[in-house]
Parts: sequence; C-alpha cells; structure tokens
Amino acid sequence: MASRTPFLAGNWKMNQEQQLTMDFMHGLSVWLQDHDASSIDIALFPSFLSIPAAIATAHESVIVGAQTVASYDNGAYTGEVSAAMIADAGCGAVLVGHSERREYFGESEQDFVLKVEKALHAGLHVIYCVGETLDQRKAGSQQDVVRKQLDPVLKSIDAEQMKNVSIAYEPVWAIGTGETATPDQAQEMHAFIREWLANAIGEDSVANTRLLYGGSMKPANAKELLDQPDVDGGLIGGASLQVESFTDILSHALS
Ligand code: PEP
Repeated sequence: MASRTPFLAGNWKMNQEQQLTMDFMHGLSVWLQDHDASSIDIALFPSFLSIPAAIATAHESVIVGAQTVASYDNGAYTGEVSAAMIADAGCGAVLVGHSERREYFGESEQDFVLKVEKALHAGLHVIYCVGETLDQRKAGSQQDVVRKQLDPVLKSIDAEQMKNVSIAYEPVWAIGTGETATPDQAQEMHAFIREWLANAIGEDSVANTRLLYGGSMKPANAKELLDQPDVDGGLIGGASLQVESFTDILSHALS
C-alpha cells in the first residue's frame, strides 16, 4: 500500500501584505519548533508581491509557491509572471486551474496545459485544481466535469512528470462558502480521481500522487476529511490566513 506524505497548502489569494506575511511565517516557525511536522509537507501561496517576504522569513521546511503562472516563457505579456521568474524567486510550487482563475479570468484547460508544462519545466511542483459547480453536482455530472478538467492535462504529461503534480479536488460550491463536502463526498470523488489517474498514467506511477481536498476546510472539519483513505491533504483558503487555524489543521495531519 502506498504511503503518501500528507500535503497541507494554504492559498492566501489576494490577502496578506508583507508585514502580515512575515508575522504569519514567524508564528508558523514558532509552532514548528514545538511540533515535529517532519511527517507532512506544508506549502503557502502568498500574493506575488509578498513572496519575497515569505521566502525570507519562512521556516526552512515550508514550501512557498505562487498562485498562478504565465503560459508563456517570456516577452511582451504585460502583467504576467513566468515559471522561470517564480522559480528564480525561490518558489517551489504553483497553483494551476483554481476555480477563481476559471471563473474570473476566463482561463481554460487549454491555458492550464501550457501553464503545467511551463511550471514543470521550471522545476516547480504543480497543484492542479479541479471541481464542479453546484448546478453540475445537482445534475449528477460532477465526475464527468472533473474528468474533462483532468484529461487534457494528463494527456500532456508523462509518468515521470506526474511525480511533481498533486491534484486538488475543490468543489466550487464549497470554496469560501462555509459549505464543505461531506467526508463521503470527498472520498468518493478522490477515489474516482485516483482511479482515473491510474488509467491515464499507470497505477504504479500515481500511487504516491497526493490528492488534496479544498473547500472550506477548517479546524472543525479537517480531521474527518483527512481521515478519508484517498484524502492526502488539503488546499485551504480562508482558514490558512490565521496561523492558529492553519496550525490547528496541520495538527490533524500529524502522525
Ligand atoms: C481555495 O480557494 O482554494 C479554498 C479552498 O478556499 P476556502 O478554504 O476559503 O474555501
């Protein structure tokens, strides 16, 4: 049986200027001095402008990542930040496919295929996000939706590259709403994703792929979600902004 290292990631979205970032990292370091967190992976995704402050102050075991990445290498793309720049800044990971990028910035699988390719080429770990809307779940099409979000990206990478990819299942109806998928709903979708990955890439190659749950994960519900056999961690928005609630969630993942 595969033993996957739990992966807990905080997506700060457009929150936390430099001082708040440094205060958070300090608080997290203090917590890490008192807790053996060597059994889990921790990542935080600040805004681009807070990344240098995060990297300068983060505990050495904490991965700092970017919330998005350009689908181009370099050149005349005003406002964009390339994978090479993100890696050069000291980041180790990037989020791709977040539903807010899909909804507010019109990004699609076509963009995500390129972004994943650029990020992997730059040596960044990718957390690729998928998830259905409430209407899609009500219509019972959630697995179809997730499969269509996964397929183009899976077709564009090989088994070796997959080692540097995690998948976050984030039902859109649970993001920032206070609504959480039930542990059974999360487990059902994660088992489906794992089977789909095994078909697409090969069972052995995805045995260690982490599948994170995202959508109003908080201290009160983290344990029952993380206890599910196919939930290997969390992508946490609101509850990752305060060091206390983030570390409470981390506590549930410690072995
Ligand atoms: C997210 O945006 O990735 C997320 C899971 O947000 P929240 O935890 O606030 O629902």
